[in-house]
Amino acid sequence: MSKYQPEQFHQQAADALADPQLRQNFRGAMDYLQEKRRSAFADPKEEADIRDCAEAIRQRCLSHLPELLEQLEANCTANGIQVHWAENAADANAIFLAIAQAATSPSDHPLLMIKGKSMVSEEINLNHEMAKHGITCLESDMGEYIIQLDGDTPSHIIMPAIHKNKQQVCDTFSEHLPHFTPTTDVDTLIQTGRQQLREKFRTAQIGVSGVNFAVAETGTLCLVENEGNGRMCTTVPDIHIAITGIEKVVAYLSDVPPLYSALTRSATGQAITTYFNMISSPRKPGELDGPKAVHLILLDNGRTQAYQDEETRQTLQCIRCGACMNHCPVYTRIGGHAYGTVYPGPIGKIISPHLLGLEATQDLVTASTLCGACGEVCPVRIPIPSLLQRLRHEAKQPPDPGHDPLKGQRAAASTSEALMMKGFALAATHPALYHAGTWTAGKVNQWIPDKLGHWTQCRTAPKPAPKSLHHLMKRKRKGESS
Ligand code: SF4
Repeated sequence: MSKYQPEQFHQQAADALADPQLRQNFRGAMDYLQEKRRSAFADPKEEADIRDCAEAIRQRCLSHLPELLEQLEANCTANGIQVHWAENAADANAIFLAIAQAATSPSDHPLLMIKGKSMVSEEINLNHEMAKHGITCLESDMGEYIIQLDGDTPSHIIMPAIHKNKQQVCDTFSEHLPHFTPTTDVDTLIQTGRQQLREKFRTAQIGVSGVNFAVAETGTLCLVENEGNGRMCTTVPDIHIAITGIEKVVAYLSDVPPLYSALTRSATGQAITTYFNMISSPRKPGELDGPKAVHLILLDNGRTQAYQDEETRQTLQCIRCGACMNHCPVYTRIGGHAYGTVYPGPIGKIISPHLLGLEATQDLVTASTLCGACGEVCPVRIPIPSLLQRLRHEAKQPPDPGHDPLKGQRAAASTSEALMMKGFALAATHPALYHAGTWTAGKVNQWIPDKLGHWTQCRTAPKPAPKSLHHLMKRKRKGESS
């Protein structure tokens, strides 16, 4: 279980801001990633074309999502991939457990699942849930492996251990790996981690991976990665379980290259990644390697709620590149843990309310300056700032009887604020009342306190001017001095 919770956002953000090492680590990493993206999109025309294309593909696929999911299931099944549907995290974990128990015998125990990087498996808290049944889940992505040693959670969706510098990684290895000779040489650190993992690939009974794109027309699961651990997880153990959100389906194989290009350029500034895996079936007769069984778990977990509304549906266009985080002035200062959600930063703020409800995430949707940087870099052009405004509105509003309510709608409603806004609306639509109000405010302004609760912790309390602009203009027109 993560020690960070979205309900504790303010405290976690304050703690992060007070940690100079964390801020330095993030600043350096974010500057690096921003520069990588900038050079990958050196030609603005090409960038615009790629984003137009990626946006159009994601919108087209989402507009046919129910049919595409059925087609994906049919074609995966025809290929020998077993498809499972999970409505929520509990369902998904039960499916993992059932597969593990059915496919192994007592002599296989203790069971080991070796995992490639999968944020959806973080979403269902897979490691923790499997541990309750004596199954070990071992992370094989280097960043995930480091934070698993620490008992920590990812702070970035692409680079899970980005909050650590090489000295801190060295400290982690020194603490947890018995024969490690302390060093801050990055190559040695990586080789050390790899040596630890290599043997585990051979002994794990089950490999787990995420899915970047699930192709409906062919029943193919595409996996994008740089370390080769994804390929090992999906080919060496006898059983491969892939888990993904229902939104990751695309219609055609030809949809994949443009999305792949948009993803890698936006995420790490690469034209392509070192590995691109296409998984279409379990091992066939006569083949020398590959898993004997492949399972695909399609997880909803709140995505249907986002899908039902045309505006919030845009959230599901996301291809999880992380660019919005790398450019967010809030994320780059507080890092990922402060959000207390699996998906931090701008994408986390718009997807987490659907996964967890607005009660838990109401502080996240307001933790934005609405500067628009996230929307400007998003390769699929998700209008993140306007979705944040929509969620802020939903957190205050009573449910609309014509629509299914969003989870936690009205969670941030405040009677005093509602009364204040009603009063202002009344005054703003009745000039006499408005003038009486501004006249009175001008007379009592010296009695307005300097501190007005949280709002004035880092702002000056607004004081109405002694005389309103209307009043001054009127006098000016009459030729009187103010
Ligand atoms: S919202 Fe856009 S920029 Fe952010 S992770 Fe998703 S695709 Fe990338």
